[in-house]
Amino acid sequence: MDRITISDLEVFAFHGVLKEENSLGQKFLISAELYMDVSEAAKDDDITKSINYADVCKDIDMFLKNNTFKLIETMADRLARHLLISYKILNEVCVKVKKPWAPILMTLDTVSVSVSRKWHHVYLSLGSNMGDMEDNINKAIRLLDKEEDCQVNRVSTLRVTKPVGPVEQNDFLNGALYMNTLKTPQELLALIGSIEKELKRVRDIHWGPRTIDLDILLYDDEIIQTTNLTIPHIEMDKRLFVLEPMTELAPWLRHPVLGMTMREMTNLRLGLED
Ligand code: ATP
Ligand code: CA
Ligand code: CA
Repeated sequence: MDRITISDLEVFAFHGVLKEENSLGQKFLISAELYMDVSEAAKDDDITKSINYADVCKDIDMFLKNNTFKLIETMADRLARHLLISYKILNEVCVKVKKPWAPILMTLDTVSVSVSRKWHHVYLSLGSNMGDMEDNINKAIRLLDKEEDCQVNRVSTLRVTKPVGPVEQNDFLNGALYMNTLKTPQELLALIGSIEKELKRVRDIHWGPRTIDLDILLYDDEIIQTTNLTIPHIEMDKRLFVLEPMTELAPWLRHPVLGMTMREMTNLRLGLED
């Protein structure tokens, strides 16, 4: 990917664990690698299609003067996120914070921390079979999109489906969405849990009726298996109510474990030849 690099920008600011650091301030050196596609800007020789590095430098200076952090780890993380949220053209950034005057009473060149942050590509499934189902789903989408580190890009059509499993209950409204997020998979799981809670989901019967059910289907092409999280979602290839909306959003997208596209998996479930 194309990259613009800012090296060792000097910023005088007040970060640190010690009181003197917060009152006297010190010099930090900031480097940022900004990953984006500059081919359009280069083709038209047009800065409005790229990122103005003078603006970015001013922005970094302001951000680090207007916020105070104890750790350079936090400085690097927050600055990386701030840049990704502020400049939509950025896909990924790598921020390095150097502290040349680290107060350790010994001679050293610099202490530094580097972090890489990027927009992740995520698909969620959406389901409801209680109350105003469409309204529940739309509220969940709004709550997701409201987070500054989540951007909902596309939502599939919502379809009425028959409930699966042993519990007698109403039909569902189901769909899927495509979003970008800076959250980790665990942070995203916590967010969907809090949205389900806000929309008054009660967890009494497994596979029972619910105002809202949000599941993480895919997170980039990662394969994750922990006690509380399995990605790709363990049941996704068996459920037409997931595969059909996914095929609408991304027919060519491959399941990272099974290697089949969403369309191939849908057709297999429907018993069709691809
Ligand atoms: P199913 O997972 O079969 O669709 P469900 O959605 O009805 O069932 P829930 O009660 O909503 O089940 O979730 C049970 C647990 O599943 C959650 O507490 C969560 O920790 C775990 N889980 C594991 N992988 C995922 C995932 N990819 N997305 C959402 N939850 C997951
Ligand atoms: Ca589910
Ligand atoms: Ca769930």
